[in-house]
Amino acid sequence: MIRYADRLLEIAVMSLIHEGGCACASVRYRVTGQPAIAQACHCSFCQRRSGSAFALLAAFKEDQVDLSGPPLTQYEHRSDESGRWVRCHFCPVCGTTVLITLERNPGVSVIPGGSFDDPGWCKPSRHIWTRSAHDWIVFPAGVELREKA
Ligand SMILES: [Zn+2]
Ligand SMILES: [Zn+2]
Repeated sequence: MIRYADRLLEIAVMSLIHEGGCACASVRYRVTGQPAIAQACHCSFCQRRSGSAFALLAAFKEDQVDLSGPPLTQYEHRSDESGRWVRCHFCPVCGTTVLITLERNPGVSVIPGGSFDDPGWCKPSRHIWTRSAHDWIVFPAGVELREKA
């Protein structure tokens, strides 16, 4: 009976842990628990830096995130809207952004949602900066939409 309870606890803990990493697997991370928010960002900076139409971003408290691998390279961008910085931290080998930090959210580690080993786990409940979304984007029903952040 105790063994069964231990096994259930183990399953419960494992379901709180999600892993991911960069394209070349030099950098790996493990997050514990749910993100405070997972959102799709359609800002022009995310479009440019990712080379894609929007970014999928999961925000965790920094103590929920464990990183391993070589020290990350950083690029600091200043928002032309707020003047505050956004830092992209990326693998020095393959250039995949594995972490984003923001001046406006101290203590928060944002993980790009497409870098999880299980990409289906990270589903955005909010779309932000919709004013710069590509004109072919169709927003799913039931998600929160914000013209800006
Ligand atoms: Zn890499
Ligand atoms: Zn963005």
